[in-house]
Amino acid sequence: MSKTIAVCNQKGGTGKTTSAVNISAYIALTGRKVLLIDLDPQANATSGLGVDRHSVEKSTYHILLEETEPLEIIKPTAIPNLFLAPANLDLTGAEVELVGALGREYRLKRALAKIQENFYYIFIDSPPSLSLLTINALCAATSIIIPVQCEYYALEGLSQLTNTIKLVQDNLNPNLSIEGVLLTMADFRTNLTKEVIEEVRNFFKEKVYQTIIPRNIRLTEAPSHGKPIVLYDSDSLGAQKYAELVGEILGDPEIKNQIGQLLKNQGQEVKDKSNEENYHNYK
Ligand code: ATP
Ligand code: MG
Repeated sequence: MSKTIAVCNQKGGTGKTTSAVNISAYIALTGRKVLLIDLDPQANATSGLGVDRHSVEKSTYHILLEETEPLEIIKPTAIPNLFLAPANLDLTGAEVELVGALGREYRLKRALAKIQENFYYIFIDSPPSLSLLTINALCAATSIIIPVQCEYYALEGLSQLTNTIKLVQDNLNPNLSIEGVLLTMADFRTNLTKEVIEEVRNFFKEKVYQTIIPRNIRLTEAPSHGKPIVLYDSDSLGAQKYAELVGEILGDPEIKNQIGQLLKNQGQEVKDKSNEENYHNYK
């Protein structure tokens, strides 16, 4: 059965988009069909997968407004099995335009119901707010991944987020659960990072992933080349850790080695597979 996972934290810059893009890419590489939905007007997931947001005519905005069929906005990416529902700046207006609309919290859920069966996993990259867009993500999702940056005040705002999750569970989506809490941008040279890891583990207990994403310059560089880390520098520590995390998410630690082998066997082939070819496979 397909699973829809929202990547959420109303705090800015915690690694939501980096995680959504790279988790999606690695899961797709295991042969599972994945859709990444960009629900942030900043459209960072869109550009991070090499799609120019200015060239996007139909975006997630149009599916929220029910102006287009969801399948019509979906684009193939350079990774086989990974598809993108892009965002563009139009999305900024969605919030206002949906005020007063009937069932406005469920627009995304209703759209996804039509295409859910086509995908093994659907990930939703959410904006840094607890806005109607994020509520749409939480209503459409079966679970949520919360990226938490290892920094001062890491826990600040998390109780607000957990309260919102509770409200959504009680009133809008009783099926919503926390998939996992992901520690990001860890700098193991500092005591602060170690303290934050301990604090977050005390707060979220076993929900915290064992895999911790380190601060890694290659992860910062990859989006400016429009590539997930696996196509930019699959040997980097950041890449290895996202591959390891996917093993944890899928409950199979062997996955990391399988992906390594796959990349070795297919080499450039995976890296250079053309969009047309992927599009063909998708159709
Ligand atoms: P926003 O709230 O604005 O949507 P976000 O939560 O999606 O932000 P990202 O865009 O993923 O966060 O990351 C914020 C910045 O930190 C980006 O420039 C990104 O490239 C960088 N970054 C993310 N993860 C790492 C990492 N592990 N190491 C180094 N830089 C990182
Ligand atoms: Mg983001």
